[in-house]
Amino acid sequence: MSAERKDVQFLNTPIEYLKGVGPEKATVLKNELQIFSFGDLIKHFPYRYVDRSQIHTTNDIGNSDTYIQLKGKIKNMVELGHGRAKRLSAVFYDDVGEVELVWFKGIQWIKKGIDANTTFLLYGKPTYFNHSYNIAHPELEIFNAAKNKYEQPFRALYNTTEKMKKKGLDSKAFQKLIANLLVNLKPEHIIDFIPKKYIEMYRMLSRYDAYVNIHQPKNNSLQHQAIKRLKFEELFITQINLVELKLIHQKEKGFIFEKIDNHFDNFYHHLLPFELTNAQKRVLKEIRKDMLSGKQMNRLLQGDVGSGKTIVALLCMLMAIDNNFQATLMAPTEILAQQHFQGIQELLQNTNINVQLLTGSTKSKEKKQILKAVNEGLVDLLIGTHALIEDTVQFKNLGIAIIDEQHRFGVEQRAKLYTKNTTAPHILVMTATPIPRTLAMTLYGDLDVSVIDELPPGRKPIKTIHKFESHRLELFGFMRDEIKKGRQIYIVYPLIQESEKLDLIDLQNGYEAICRAFPIPDYFVSVVHGKMKPADKDFEMQRFLKKETQIMVATTVIEVGVNVPNASVMIIENADRFGLSQLHQLRGRVGRGADQSYCILMTDFKLSQDAKKRIKTMCETNDGFKIAEVDLALRGPGNMEGTQQSGALQLSIANIATDGKILEEARKTAIAIYENDATLQHEDNKWLRYYLQAQKQKKNSWISVS
Ligand code: ADP
Ligand code: MG
Repeated sequence: MSAERKDVQFLNTPIEYLKGVGPEKATVLKNELQIFSFGDLIKHFPYRYVDRSQIHTTNDIGNSDTYIQLKGKIKNMVELGHGRAKRLSAVFYDDVGEVELVWFKGIQWIKKGIDANTTFLLYGKPTYFNHSYNIAHPELEIFNAAKNKYEQPFRALYNTTEKMKKKGLDSKAFQKLIANLLVNLKPEHIIDFIPKKYIEMYRMLSRYDAYVNIHQPKNNSLQHQAIKRLKFEELFITQINLVELKLIHQKEKGFIFEKIDNHFDNFYHHLLPFELTNAQKRVLKEIRKDMLSGKQMNRLLQGDVGSGKTIVALLCMLMAIDNNFQATLMAPTEILAQQHFQGIQELLQNTNINVQLLTGSTKSKEKKQILKAVNEGLVDLLIGTHALIEDTVQFKNLGIAIIDEQHRFGVEQRAKLYTKNTTAPHILVMTATPIPRTLAMTLYGDLDVSVIDELPPGRKPIKTIHKFESHRLELFGFMRDEIKKGRQIYIVYPLIQESEKLDLIDLQNGYEAICRAFPIPDYFVSVVHGKMKPADKDFEMQRFLKKETQIMVATTVIEVGVNVPNASVMIIENADRFGLSQLHQLRGRVGRGADQSYCILMTDFKLSQDAKKRIKTMCETNDGFKIAEVDLALRGPGNMEGTQQSGALQLSIANIATDGKILEEARKTAIAIYENDATLQHEDNKWLRYYLQAQKQKKNSWISVS
């Protein structure tokens, strides 16, 4: 262990002990970048590199859009414009051509520093403007033939803050600090916890070399290798933790549901209103296997909107009930819980299964009765919202817990369900819309995954159309035609926290405009939004469901799960303000019956690049998996719906949207390590074991502090 001590000691050295860091700079580093120790500093990675290993010519401008180094002289310096538009322009030329230089600031100072006979090394980023290239605010240094090569041709640039710059800690100062640290950094300070075998297998740099080369790369190739190695390491750590958790789950004893000859068989053969798709059948088999294994099931069920996850969930719950266990289904909203309750009650009406609903708005007297019946085992199937996980809800013998729309819940809520029986019940979590493989691996890497990759037959693909505000009258005409055919229509307005009030005004105005254009008694319009009482919301939903109203004006409260098969038109107002997965979710509210359905995306004429891309994607495809990929690429993993709280996504160098291949390798490695050596006792895995132990201790001490 002595070697470990050495590395821990060195990396834990307080930052004020570094040459060049006095108490004042130390305070700024701590406050601005949370750099407390040598180890923290070394993990503050550059955001970009300056490549001065090659001198290009002006002919190379335009070949790529990155920074370029040139050698030449400067002529024709003129001041142009007046006042705020004032700028300095000059021509930079080498043996083969020329390029314009411009400065908007520090003009007098620059004029003084430049003379026509001096040869300069220029470094800057050419931009294309008015049919030619120019370079704004280039870095200029006098070319010194004796020293025509940089000692450090690659230089790292670091993010700093205004406060840091005030204390003299700019990017250059940072380079110096890092250099001071690297002088004293020895390989034994940076112990490689990834076993040698895998480093060789993936031809990676050692951990030490990676840290040195990410800060001071000797060449392009080493810089890339260093980044790759550190990305791998970061992803490997998230995966090793998830794989370990999965291993722990797998050791957990679980209930065995042997019998399916009562409710399950009866339902499957006599009550199921349609034939299951092959994908549904396959998923059921996977789950069935889990339930006979004697191990606790922890499974993620992925499937596109409308792929029929609910019926799979119900069949799983029937397996539990057949074996004298209770089952529970948790949904993120009242409306969805209500719908599940009604739908399932209807499907089970000719059985003696006792189904109950428990939500935040269940009256206290009724709630008491339900809780008592649940506790006595009289309730077979309890459906509800978050209310289900409260401590007051005590089952007699819970066998399976299913979470619908998992992304709306946190990990802790899932964990709470584990404690609802002395042996943890089987857990099935379902997603609202698909998420890309890489994201699933990172968020749900401790779960087994099943995918329903097929929609029920007979569905016509939804036609998605983008319309500008100026086509509203046309839109109203189309709506009247559809209503004449007996169809129903949703109109959804965005509701975004920051401007909730304005949004509600939008909704109110929209509702009034619709009521004017579609007047009683020919038309009836419902309205539902988040600020309404649950009972009022329910009343309006019911009217729409019973076809008493033809148009439903709503905020995104209807996004989740609502099922009205006769509704065939989804109009989304200010569609540019929605994220892709939300748009796809909303679109999934239609196309549930046999009729041709439409999704109409309304926007203003002016749209951002990202908004254009979102709308284009929606018009081009109905495939939730494809949409999820685009969403991930556009927004980055940290901003995807339901991922904000996930620690697994707080990555400092890797990006799961673009580093999918490295992620796969890291996961494969983590699995292989545990498969060969479940307790990490092998000599090769020693440092990994120490690393994970230290990580846990840190977490525990952190928990006890906070
Ligand atoms: P989601 O996966 O989005 O939760 P649902 O479970 O709400 O989808 O199912 C959508 C609709 O498809 C429901 O009306 C459901 O009854 C119907 N459905 C599910 N499976 C099938 C099937 N195999 N054949 C026909 N209709 C089905
Ligand atoms: Mg659903």
